[in-house]
Amino acid sequence: MAEKNLYEILGVSKTATDAEIKSAYRKSALKYHPDKHKGDKDSEQKFKEINVAYEVLSDKQKRQQYDTFGSAGPRNGFGGGSGGAQSGGFDFNGMNFDFGNGSGGFADIFESFFGGGASSGRSKRSKRSGPIRGNDIEANVKISFDDAVFGCEKELEITKSDVCQHCDGRGAEPGSSIVTCKACNGTGEIRSIRNTILGQMATSNICDECNGEGKHPEKLCSVCHGTTRVRVKERVKVKIPAGVDNGSTLKLAGKGEGGIKNGLSGDLYILLVVEQSKKFIRDGLDIHGETEIHLIQAVLGDEISVPTIHGEKTIKIPAGTSDSKVFKISGEGVKRSNGQAGDHYVKIRIKIPEKLSKKERELYIALAAEAGLDTKKSGGLFW
Ligand SMILES: [Zn+2]
Ligand SMILES: [Zn+2]
Repeated sequence: MAEKNLYEILGVSKTATDAEIKSAYRKSALKYHPDKHKGDKDSEQKFKEINVAYEVLSDKQKRQQYDTFGSAGPRNGFGGGSGGAQSGGFDFNGMNFDFGNGSGGFADIFESFFGGGASSGRSKRSKRSGPIRGNDIEANVKISFDDAVFGCEKELEITKSDVCQHCDGRGAEPGSSIVTCKACNGTGEIRSIRNTILGQMATSNICDECNGEGKHPEKLCSVCHGTTRVRVKERVKVKIPAGVDNGSTLKLAGKGEGGIKNGLSGDLYILLVVEQSKKFIRDGLDIHGETEIHLIQAVLGDEISVPTIHGEKTIKIPAGTSDSKVFKISGEGVKRSNGQAGDHYVKIRIKIPEKLSKKERELYIALAAEAGLDTKKSGGLFW
C-alpha cells in the first residue's frame, strides 16, 4: 500500500509555517506540472500528491485533523487505510485522475480521502477479509486472605461480545441464503467519477450495502440483525491456585470475546484483589505475625504455641528473650503447588502484668532486693 507522509511529499518539516508550505508547494507544483511532463505517469502521480498534500496542509483545520489522525488512532478515516502501523501515512490507492477539463475544488479530493470520516465520524470502512481474533477481557475478582493462600474455585459472570449462535456468525437467518450484492454487483466496491480542478477523478469506495464483501444475507438474522455479534452473559469457573497474591493475574485462554469470521477467541485475564487478614501480614510467600508472652516466660524461657496459617505450632523461647525479638518457623509460610514455600515469622510481645496478687508482690519485692534495686527511691513500692 502506498503510504506517504504529506509533509514529506512537500519536503517540509512537521513544524513548517504556512508560508513555508505555500512556497514548497509552488516549487513542487511547477516542477511536476503535467504540462511539462506530458504522458509521464510518475510526474502525474507526484503532481496529484503535491496538490492533495497542499490542500490538507494549507488548511488549518484539515492540517490539525491530519496531524491527529495521521499519527494516532482511526486509520480507517484515511481512504480505506487498512490499519497499518505506519504513522502519518496517507493512502493514495484507489485514486485515479483523468487529466482534462474539469472544475471543482480540492475539497472534493479531500472529501474523497476522508470520506467525510475525519470530521463526521462516518469512516470508510476497510474491507474485512480474513479471520479476526476476538478481544481480550479483563475482570477483577476479590478473594479472601485464606483463599489466596490455599487456593479456591470462584465463579464469576462476565458480559462480552460473542458470535451469534442463532446464525452461527453468518448474519443470515438460518435457511436463507447469501446472495450477491446488487449495489456493487459482487465487486465490493462502488466507483464514482467526479469533476475536479485536475479533471475527472474516479474514486472507488467500499460498498456500504455489503461492507465490501460483494455478498450479503438474503434475510438478516433475527437475533443479531446481520451484525453476526451479540452481547452475552457467561458464567465462568476459575480455579485459583494456592499461593496467589494481591495483584496476581490469571489468564483463561479462549475465554475472551469470540473472534470474527472463525477467528480465535480472545483471552480472559483475571486480576486478583486479595483481602487483608486481621492476624497476619503477608510478604510474598512469608507470613508475619505477633504473639504475647508473660514477662516471666521471657525471663526464664518457655515453650509456647504460635498461630500460623497452618494452625498452632510450638516454638522454644530461650531465657532472656527481649521484646520485639523475631523467631522464624521455617517452611510454615505460603506453600505453592510447585513446592515453593515461605516461612512464618513471629514477633514476641512481652506482656507486663498489670495487677499482682499479694504473694506475687512479695516475690517481686524479694526479686528486686536480690537484683540490688532500691525500688523505694523510684517510688515504685508505695503500696
Ligand atoms: Zn456491495
Ligand atoms: Zn445472528
